[in-house]
Amino acid sequence: MGLSRLLPRPNTRASSDKKGSPLSRVISFANQKGGVAKTTTTLNLGVALKEKGHTVLLIDLDPQGNLTMSQGWNPDEIERSMFDVLVHKLPIEEIVRVAEVDVAVSSIDLAGAELALSSMIGRERALEKALVSVKPQYDYILIDTPPSLGLLTINALVASNGVIVPVQCEYLSLRGLVQLENTLSMIRENLNPDVEIQGILPTMYDKRLLHSKEAVDILKENFGDLVFKTKIRKTIRYAEAPVKGQSVLGYDPSGNAAQLYRDLAKEVLNGAKTREHA
Ligand code: ADP
Ligand code: MG
Repeated sequence: MGLSRLLPRPNTRASSDKKGSPLSRVISFANQKGGVAKTTTTLNLGVALKEKGHTVLLIDLDPQGNLTMSQGWNPDEIERSMFDVLVHKLPIEEIVRVAEVDVAVSSIDLAGAELALSSMIGRERALEKALVSVKPQYDYILIDTPPSLGLLTINALVASNGVIVPVQCEYLSLRGLVQLENTLSMIRENLNPDVEIQGILPTMYDKRLLHSKEAVDILKENFGDLVFKTKIRKTIRYAEAPVKGQSVLGYDPSGNAAQLYRDLAKEVLNGAKTREHA
């Protein structure tokens, strides 16, 4: 099944230069299963990295626009979005909005992007090209992907150095992870030799449930130190914050929910080092 074959770990770290960095690190949040906390993780990790002094751009690559909504904008009222960037080559700077962090927004149009891109030469590299002009301004570019392994997600993986895979502890799907790994292998062979799984993030962890503990054990057996030490606990705070158009770090800055994403940010900043000793 290929699960035991661990992928190489990342060895690069983004610079902490406040003006942004040419060594900008691009990370996708991917899992073709919906509801595993891709969007929640993109936003809250992004805000936590910003708190630590890094420049951060979030990209909403999901036509459902949940990331866009979670910063208080209505995707139905957005005229120009990632659709125009990918399909009409509009400079990405023109659709970046600023709230807690900078966000390249999505709109319902984006649902048509896969079809529009499918007949274009270089269809898998549209996002990679779009990011060239903004990379010098950001230490971290975090991409939220839709729940599929279609052309939008492929664009994200081609543009990325690393992939963080949020996995819901309740309904662990190892088969889904094998499928994602196979897609990544294909992308490494054909489009982006450097992209690798940076970490697997257990989410919606309920410490009272044996089932949650077992799910983390299974992940560790199969992925070893690729599994982050930080486990994101299950709490209603994560659902409450987006209703207010905020991250949990903005909504409840001193709460446990915010602290968990600060812990994750620390692990991400330390790269493989922390997890080698997990
Ligand atoms: P995805 O982007 O993978 O579809 P979301 O980030 O949108 O997943 O999360 C799905 C739902 O679960 C959202 O309503 C979100 O608020 C909620 N959620 C996310 N993380 C947690 C958590 N750790 N505990 C409880 N609910 C969560
Ligand atoms: Mg989402």
